[in-house]
Amino acid sequence: MSDTNKSVKNVAVIGGGAAGLIAAWAAAKNNSVFLIERNEKLGKKLYITGKGRCNITNTDDKDEFFRSVFRNPKFLYSAINAFSNQDIVRLIEANGVKTKVERGGRIFPESDKSSDVIRALTKNAEKAGVNIALNTRVKAVKKIENGFDIEFYSNPQSIPSKYDAVIICTGGKSYSSTGSTGDGYELARCFGHTIVELKPSLTGLCTNEQWVSDLQGLTLKNVQLTAYRNGKKIYSDMGEMLFTHFGVSGPLVLTLSGHIADDPIGVLLSIDLKPALSENTLDRRILSDFDKHKHKLLKNALVDLLPSRMISVIINQSGISAEKSVDEITAIERAALLKALKSLQLTVSGTPPIHQAIVTRGGVSVKEIDPRTMESKLVKGLYFAGEVIDCDAQTGGYNLQIAFSTGYLAGSSANDLQNDIGEI
Ligand SMILES: Cc1cc2nc3c(=O)[nH]c(=O)nc-3n(C[C@H](O)[C@H](O)[C@H](O)COP(=O)(O)OP(=O)(O)OC[C@H]3O[C@@H](n4cnc5c(N)ncnc54)[C@H](O)[C@@H]3O)c2cc1C
Repeated sequence: MSDTNKSVKNVAVIGGGAAGLIAAWAAAKNNSVFLIERNEKLGKKLYITGKGRCNITNTDDKDEFFRSVFRNPKFLYSAINAFSNQDIVRLIEANGVKTKVERGGRIFPESDKSSDVIRALTKNAEKAGVNIALNTRVKAVKKIENGFDIEFYSNPQSIPSKYDAVIICTGGKSYSSTGSTGDGYELARCFGHTIVELKPSLTGLCTNEQWVSDLQGLTLKNVQLTAYRNGKKIYSDMGEMLFTHFGVSGPLVLTLSGHIADDPIGVLLSIDLKPALSENTLDRRILSDFDKHKHKLLKNALVDLLPSRMISVIINQSGISAEKSVDEITAIERAALLKALKSLQLTVSGTPPIHQAIVTRGGVSVKEIDPRTMESKLVKGLYFAGEVIDCDAQTGGYNLQIAFSTGYLAGSSANDLQNDIGEI
């Protein structure tokens, strides 16, 4: 489906990250597209994704994908249908970068190098004729008759200031050193758009307890983390977590943070350090350890059960004296020890600052964006894509897929080629 009657339009794509690279390519089929990036290179955030390996997307089917989206999954239906996980894999592979599937359906470049993904997306955009303007930061976008006027912080010679359509792909407000400092929210606000309150998501959690800082750097594997709000269980899963100077982090905590990002304060965390053992089995195990270490002090008798740095914390929580001989420990005291091992408790006091979060919760309200096109409902010719929109998801490649899918839909809509992926 091509539109040969239309004259070539100037389209500005602001932000050369995941969403911008795809939006620019999709918009370039009929138009003259300018991909405007404030940094000296494209995809600075993409470069650090997946610990430098870039978890591009996930093999999940669409239903599972939508279940992994925390905010506004329904808004994403058209975008995901227009450009799916298979489409992005096909596009990256067509540009010379093979992919592989890992645990949990996570898709990575076979080389484990995020730079290869950036290279493929850049090549793809360049092949489509996208003009790339680096070191060019957009200051303001103004509506003029039949289009938009863009103001830059420094006046670039090589690109126009007038455009028929503008796609805002400036990302969120986290990891601001990558260029995502939240400029897009201000640009949107100037057009009357509502910005849903910004909060950190996929983040570590600060806790009230002082003792966590003594465990800074300690990773716990195969533990069960359960979270309660007002006594009601809101999350429980098994996996890996980590103590930090401010509280807790690691995969389990990042996932939990997405569930409680709107209201984290006061959430109670309970860590089962031995989820594979029932209370009875664990009690028998403790008794056998006490037997093995008979006549020793409690603090010296838990070495087989716990990492050495955890021992004093667990003993403190149990209320038993660390100097007590294991021979003198009563059944009641053992029950307290069991409780500390099966339900070590922490209370969430907040989150680290937003710039340290993996993604930003909140952003341009989806109520003001047409989900079939990503066009603003307030201003014709203005589009949004990626993390700047109030959508965020679980870890596992879903956030990049949101950026790719909304980028595609915005670009193809600006191009009047919606739902026609055409040749990749
Ligand atoms: C450490 C880390 C690891 C992550 N790992 C993964 C992962 O493995 N898988 C996954 O799915 N998600 C991951 N994410 C999330 C994912 O990176 C983001 O959701 C995604 O990059 C959002 O894409 P975007 O294009 O909307 O924004 P960005 O990728 O942030 O791109 C926005 C671009 O806009 C530019 N820009 C901003 N303002 C202006 C302006 N005024 N003028 C010109 N340019 C501007 C910025 O410089 C930037 O290049 C990770 C995030 C972090 C921080």
